[in-house]
Amino acid sequence: NLQSTKVLTNGVEMPRLGLGVYKMTEREETLQAIDYALKVGYRAIDTASLYGNETEVGEAIRHAGIKREEIFVTTKVWNNDQGYDATLRAFEVSLKKLNMDYLDLYLTHWAVPQSFEETYRAIERLYDEKLIRATGVSNHHEHHLQKLLAKANIAPMVNQVEVHPYLQQDALKTYCTKHGIALTAWSPLGRGGVLDNSTILEIGQELGKTAAQVVLRWHLQNDTIIIPKSVTPSRIEENAQIFDFELTQAQMTQIASLNLNKRFGQDPDNFKFDF
Ligand code: NAD
Repeated sequence: NLQSTKVLTNGVEMPRLGLGVYKMTEREETLQAIDYALKVGYRAIDTASLYGNETEVGEAIRHAGIKREEIFVTTKVWNNDQGYDATLRAFEVSLKKLNMDYLDLYLTHWAVPQSFEETYRAIERLYDEKLIRATGVSNHHEHHLQKLLAKANIAPMVNQVEVHPYLQQDALKTYCTKHGIALTAWSPLGRGGVLDNSTILEIGQELGKTAAQVVLRWHLQNDTIIIPKSVTPSRIEENAQIFDFELTQAQMTQIASLNLNKRFGQDPDNFKFDF
């Protein structure tokens, strides 16, 4: 069902579906999108200090009248705030904006080469201090994770990376699974760019589902956590109607054959850290 969760290595349950709120910059639109998502059963919100909407995320959650502990809130430390002390300070700022006592998950947004290890060390400290319920990272390749795992007291529990039918990330997924790191797909719909694929549309016709529902269901059956973004109520609802049907093994295989190693976003190794 809609509240189905993935159990992280420390036993914390993370909803398999969350609302991504990147590029929700208009205040009313953001409040309404989150309000609507919570109404139709979403229980996780994925934001970042970069998105500039942590204040609205906090407000919308309080306004919904759902207990704080029933909602899973993720935010991320931006690239120019990385390093040990700077990360601790950035966390304080995010927590204040969200107006919460704790967060569920805090992620390194991108692996800034000179500081991502120190950033993760600060995230471990936040976890020790019980200010976050789970640790994690985003946009980390296997070589980044190897470095963290070599030193970490607590292995990252989540890695959030770009995943969709055109960028399936099988090798990274295998590595993460082996080390107990849950994979979250950002741009799970390829920013909408995979929804005109004829194979996906045909599978949708077979099942009486939309292309978006087929793709999101494919992620779920691959044990990947998803955070699709939409501000449109009908789409927010559509993206959640994915717990009442199943893709056959043959349909899963058809989608598996669509991989192109094509990114819609940036490659973590070529990210332009402009500071
Ligand atoms: P997405 O794959 O979720 O696509 C969103 C776009 O697809 C929407 O803007 C809309 O145009 C379209 N769409 C959504 N639902 C649809 C539907 N049912 N039918 C037709 N079109 C639909 O892409 P995204 O917004 O890039 O990623 C989702 C979330 O992932 C973000 O909001 C953010 O929270 C997170 N994210 C994280 C990073 C990172 O670096 N960690 C990077 C990008 C995104």
